[in-house]
Amino acid sequence: MQNVTILGSTGSIGVSTLDVIGRHTEKYAVFALTAHQQVEKLFEQCVQFKPKFAVLGKAEAANQLKQKLDAAGVSGTAVLYGELALSEVASDPECHIVMAAIVGAAGLKPTLAAARAGKKVLLANKEALVMSGQIFMDAIAASGAALLPIDSEHNAVFQCLPAEKRAYDTNLGVTKVLLTASGGPFLKRDVSTLDAVTPEEAVAHPNWVMGRKISVDSATMMNKGLEVIEAHWLFGAPADQIEVVIHPQSVIHSMVSYSDGSVLAQLGNPDMRTPIAYGLAYPERIASGVAPLDLVKVGQLQFYDADFVRFPCLDLAYTALRTGGTAPAILNAANEVAVEAFLQRKIGFRDIDKLIAHALDSVESGAADTLDGILDADRRAREFTVSRIS
Ligand code: NAD
Ligand code: MG
Repeated sequence: MQNVTILGSTGSIGVSTLDVIGRHTEKYAVFALTAHQQVEKLFEQCVQFKPKFAVLGKAEAANQLKQKLDAAGVSGTAVLYGELALSEVASDPECHIVMAAIVGAAGLKPTLAAARAGKKVLLANKEALVMSGQIFMDAIAASGAALLPIDSEHNAVFQCLPAEKRAYDTNLGVTKVLLTASGGPFLKRDVSTLDAVTPEEAVAHPNWVMGRKISVDSATMMNKGLEVIEAHWLFGAPADQIEVVIHPQSVIHSMVSYSDGSVLAQLGNPDMRTPIAYGLAYPERIASGVAPLDLVKVGQLQFYDADFVRFPCLDLAYTALRTGGTAPAILNAANEVAVEAFLQRKIGFRDIDKLIAHALDSVESGAADTLDGILDADRRAREFTVSRIS
């Protein structure tokens, strides 16, 4: 029996993870579930999966959950709260697998705690890796933790890389990592009208159902930019060898090119339960609940160049990766603040990329060799971006 902690269990990835686990209760037990403030949803998950621990952001929410569990006669789930408790349930000796599915920089510390404790880490939280790539990968190497990418593109690349070494290794003939991108809801929209788009339009992704933040990131294509940085750290690929290809059907999840001219791709319906099941069971395969891919029904697979004029955020992410140090952390922090402001209708859609460009130009970056240095850059970029908005 494998004990699983899900950081961010009430989110889109968290719910899909529980769906897969629910199909294999003979293999996986839920050790801990965590949510920021969604008491009701976490309560329902606790009733169904009976975790040993449930963690919420604040004491008040934790008390509410405790009362509800008591009233429902659910004993055996201890309710904790706060940042430290997240790292505790992610590194507990009884836990074997950690799904890192908190959104944004808030996921950094508990994800790092899981890596340091040598857990099998299923990484959905790309922001943590963007911020602290070197530190995170060093922690994985030092503890001997298994790292399985859950982001569908990186999961696809992982599957297409050589089995003996899931890395960008030219000695094994690997030449390029090709990340596919749907292009989001605004792929064909007149660029001059982009400033007028609403949060509702931006979160309406054509192929994937996801949390609000990553949905806006998909509309700006900052999501793909973060994924370029993520691919760099996960596989050791240089920026110039990571290419983005627009593929509106989202059936090919990404590809790897080899020196003999072969291009390997991983295909499937756009449903995160496939990479989640892959990560949970690796190196085995288990059923995920995802319907088999019907290629005849899909009919056509199309590919286009990624357009940096339409999607300046993608360009900014490449720039941050090439700059290195804390530049990606600054990019990420400015993006998180700008996306939240956009969702709250404080700024327009095109202000997002302008604010991030400003932060990259103005906030001083440095080496990313300590967690404190990274968190300091994150804080300064947030302060700078907030001040530009107000
Ligand atoms: P979501 O918004 O649906 O869920 C986020 C989860 O994190 C929730 O459980 C929430 O309670 C928790 N959370 C939010 N703020 C928190 C905080 N400050 N402290 C502790 N917990 C907090 O997000 P999602 O779409 O599930 O995405 C989660 C992560 O997975 C993101 O990093 C995203 O980029 C990545 N990802 C998601 C998808 C997808 O299909 N949804 C695909 C690839 C990667
Ligand atoms: Mg992705």
